[in-house]
Amino acid sequence: MTYRVTLLPGDGIGPEITDATVRVLEATGVKFQWDVFTVGEVAIAEHGTPLPITTLDSIRKNGIALKGPVTTPIGKGFRSVNVALRKELDLYACLRPCKSYKGVVTTRYENVDLVIVRENTEDLYIGIEFAKGTPEADELYNLISKNYKGTLRKDAGYSIKTISEFGSRRIVKYAFEYARKYKRKKVSAVSKANIMKFSDGLFLSTAREVAKEYPDIEFDEVLVDALCMRLVKSPEMYDVLVLPNLYGDIISDLCAGLVGGLGLAPGANIGEGIAVFEATHGSAPKYTGLNKVSSMAEMLSAVLMLRYLGETDAADRMENAIAAVIKEGKNVTYDLRKDRNEPSVGTSQVADAVIEKLR
Ligand code: NAD
Repeated sequence: MTYRVTLLPGDGIGPEITDATVRVLEATGVKFQWDVFTVGEVAIAEHGTPLPITTLDSIRKNGIALKGPVTTPIGKGFRSVNVALRKELDLYACLRPCKSYKGVVTTRYENVDLVIVRENTEDLYIGIEFAKGTPEADELYNLISKNYKGTLRKDAGYSIKTISEFGSRRIVKYAFEYARKYKRKKVSAVSKANIMKFSDGLFLSTAREVAKEYPDIEFDEVLVDALCMRLVKSPEMYDVLVLPNLYGDIISDLCAGLVGGLGLAPGANIGEGIAVFEATHGSAPKYTGLNKVSSMAEMLSAVLMLRYLGETDAADRMENAIAAVIKEGKNVTYDLRKDRNEPSVGTSQVADAVIEKLR
């Protein structure tokens, strides 16, 4: 069988890491047909929009995409192509496993094995904002002043946090279903429900309800500030974390740090019958074209893609090959050296080494 997958190389370091990843995927023996499409700055140059309809149509048709990172233009046009893509395709679940691999010298921990399930379509992150001094901000000011007796300043800007029962139920259910499928023992719902009672509070009360449907899986609740402290002290306490969008964004980077850095942090954005696989990190523009950065996060995202496709054997072989290269420590990029002046190899050499292990 040949899998037809939309390939979005992205920009910055995207084309290099996706090229390396495609080479490794093909070396697993699984057959792919790649439909290559553009997003971001490259797409603006070609189609006048960072998110062309042809790109969206291809992902919808294939139901699956492997994506490189995309630079967010500061201060012009689209707020974020990534946010828009997730919204357009309703990729509501962002999955980010963080796992310790033996031989990583850039971490203080050995036993991290947790999975972040981040809600992708709501919360402060989706960009409902009103700038200071606009008629909309003034309207909001008037509305809020009628009901709020504390200090409210007229020169404020507004970013609106929305969390729905539907969105919360859907993501928490996804977290529990994931836990069941991959034999995880515990799901922890993360919030700041003690302060944001109507947004995070709704997320938490919905999580409590959903948890009752999964008596085989332990459920616990943790406030996001306490979670940060506990993750740094004893990350092995956690298994599956389910979080609203913004906390998920922040905790993902924290957890990437626990396992050795962004170069080792994979991800996937998943909807109903549709999924886009991409590393947690961004386009690292300063390293564009230098054959320098780690392609392992993108490769580990491709491992998630293989598992999603049910290609468990190929996924295990690919993950083991990556783990073996990390453990050997010879063919790793600069970011996996404790002293960044130590000799390291480039993006494409890492792929060569992983392919060698696969053979
Ligand atoms: P970034 O993740 O691109 O890079 C931050 C730093 O992390 C880099 O300078 C580098 O030192 C390190 N790093 C990142 N990826 C690495 C890799 N594969 N190997 C080794 N080191 C790596 O974050 P940023 O600089 O804040 O963002 C750059 C651009 O990427 C922004 O426009 C941002 O909006 C965008 N972004 C895109 C995505 C996405 O497409 N999914 C995600 C995050 C950020």
